[in-house]
Amino acid sequence: MHRPDGSEQTIKLRALLENYRHGHDFPPELEKDFRAYMVDQGLRFNQDGNMAILIAAPALYVIFYILTHLLSEPPFLDENLRILNWTMLVEFAFALHIAMMRWLPAVRKLFSLYTVIAWSGLVGTALIGATAMPDPYLRTLAQFPVAMLIMTIFALGVFDKRLSMLSALAGSFIALTSIHALELHFDSGIFIVATALPIGLGALIASLTEMRDRIGFLQEKLLESERNLLEEYSLIVEKLSRSDALTGLANRRHLNEMLEREFSASTRNGEPLAIAFIDVDYFKPYNDTYGHQQGDLVLASIGSALRQCAMRPADLAARYGGEEFVMLLPSTDEQGALKVARHITETVSAMAIPHIASKVSDQVTLSIGIAIRTPETACEAQDLIAAADAAVYDAKRQGRNRIVIAGYDNDKMAKLSEL
Ligand code: GH3
Ligand code: MG
Ligand code: MG
Repeated sequence: MHRPDGSEQTIKLRALLENYRHGHDFPPELEKDFRAYMVDQGLRFNQDGNMAILIAAPALYVIFYILTHLLSEPPFLDENLRILNWTMLVEFAFALHIAMMRWLPAVRKLFSLYTVIAWSGLVGTALIGATAMPDPYLRTLAQFPVAMLIMTIFALGVFDKRLSMLSALAGSFIALTSIHALELHFDSGIFIVATALPIGLGALIASLTEMRDRIGFLQEKLLESERNLLEEYSLIVEKLSRSDALTGLANRRHLNEMLEREFSASTRNGEPLAIAFIDVDYFKPYNDTYGHQQGDLVLASIGSALRQCAMRPADLAARYGGEEFVMLLPSTDEQGALKVARHITETVSAMAIPHIASKVSDQVTLSIGIAIRTPETACEAQDLIAAADAAVYDAKRQGRNRIVIAGYDNDKMAKLSEL
């Protein structure tokens, strides 16, 4: 049987998932898909998270504002508030930037760049704000939100570990150079606790989440691939259930379906419907002489001859059973059907399949019975088959290797042949 295209892909994915243990990269093609999948996840996160970010930023400002008021002593209070205002303003701008990604589809391609810029901006500003506080007590306190911010980047799990690491390191670098350039107060203790520790811990979390994401991605891929495979199989099964294994023609079941359909169509559009019933002459003696296997080969050849003779798209060649075939010819009258039947006998005759046991020729011949259904004839679909079958019987009686049209005597046949 033809193997579905998707089976190889499914096998590969299943093997990959079963053997996946560490956070290593996938093969290049799949890795590319994974990156795109992560961008999707990231954008989806933005969709859900943007409101949270927009609400959280002002809320944090209010909390920090109250804390600064409560904890700052008068000589530092104004300066502390000034730094807090600036820090939060810039923070809000970066947060807005992350939230905006939802509305900017063009961002998709540059998603990694945008996230790194936004997150490193957030980390950098928070670090500058924290270390610049003149009040030592507030400085110590401020390291916690910064550390939390860095941990958040890693824990989000919507960026891969490289992006998270890059954001945290770039943020620290921005802070270090800015503090140096602006000649702000620099507290190395705070800097180390607020950056090095969360980056180390965060990298560990990010590795684990990325591995989880990779496994999730593989499972999703496998599921999709299995679903496609199932669809491919059901198409194959459907096709097999309609065709005959030996000849590849339509089988009797499919013929009956199409016959019913064409019957209604003929009633609707007032066109005639023709059926040619084809039976191989002296086929039992053929099998007895040449063997059943050779007989099968002959049936397959006749099948391909019929396929050749089904010229119009609506013509259907079918194996009715045994050595009997049916050709369904919509919108075809007696003359047209006779033409097709002759084409069939000529094609088989041209194949010149030797048949020494035949009493009518020295090669394989056919008897064909034709029945036509005109819209005026009130009959059932199966009556038409029976009429064509009866015409075959007549052909046999008249000596085989011939074509008979139901209801036509020799005179009428001769007249039709002259036309
Ligand atoms: P007639 O000229 O009257 O049609 O004679 P016949 O021998 O062809 O008719 P009959 O219906 O008695 O025999 C049909 C034979 O077709 C019987 C069987 O051996 C053969 N046959 C039916 N199906 C197959 C098949 O799938 N493969 C092969 N090799 N032979 C088949
Ligand atoms: Mg027969
Ligand atoms: Mg026969």
